Amino acid sequence: MTERTKYIVGNWKMNQNTQDVIAFFDAIDSTKLRHEAWIAPQAIHIPICLQNTDDFKIGAQNCATENSGAFTGEISPASLKDIGAEFVIIGHSERRSIFKEDDQTLNKKTKLALENDLFVIFCIGETLEEREAGKVEEVLATQLAQGLAGVSSEKIIIAYEPVWAIGTGVTASPEQAQEAHAFIRQYINENLSLDGEKTSILYGGSVKPANVEDLLSCKDIDGGLVGGAALKADSYLGLHV
Ligand code: PGA
Repeated sequence: MTERTKYIVGNWKMNQNTQDVIAFFDAIDSTKLRHEAWIAPQAIHIPICLQNTDDFKIGAQNCATENSGAFTGEISPASLKDIGAEFVIIGHSERRSIFKEDDQTLNKKTKLALENDLFVIFCIGETLEEREAGKVEEVLATQLAQGLAGVSSEKIIIAYEPVWAIGTGVTASPEQAQEAHAFIRQYINENLSLDGEKTSILYGGSVKPANVEDLLSCKDIDGGLVGGAALKADSYLGLHV
């Protein structure tokens, strides 16, 4: 069996000010980090994160579809790389639903981020309505096929985040998550130009210290993409079981 790297990735979303960022890294006892420790702050805080830690990889929550040009308000993957970011989260459900990013846009962002030598955490996941209609596999397959079309790289990490579990306090059971992860791995192996056995697949959606151990003990769950429980250092460290 392939030993895959495990990750605890904090997605800080549109939270934290500079004092919160400094306090977070001050309170991290790095001897307690058991897995790869990554944080995606607001992009404007990437430099201050980098100044305050050597133990974490720091990345962005989104990037543009172009490297430069007349795109007011956008942040290019080339600029992210230039300031020291090492990864970017692409296709988070909040980007898909609030900002209407479609699979073609996400595919473009993913390819450009990889060209800039960033790791990509590519997010997929079904809504409650889609789950109840029995469409989980269909939705995941479409998001993977379109979002990762023509992508072949060892710098891709997948995050399975059922939309109904994000920020709701409702976590997918380890069995539900494992079932989706096994499907994703098999789909990758059979349909994409990625090595499913080597690709890490993270679970996201109300991961917290109380449930992380059960989730991480599942065969196909290679870590967590964590929002709320990653905002404070003690809670974040509690995810490193
Ligand atoms: P949550 O967010 O842990 O607060 O549910 C996860 C995410 O949106 O990545």
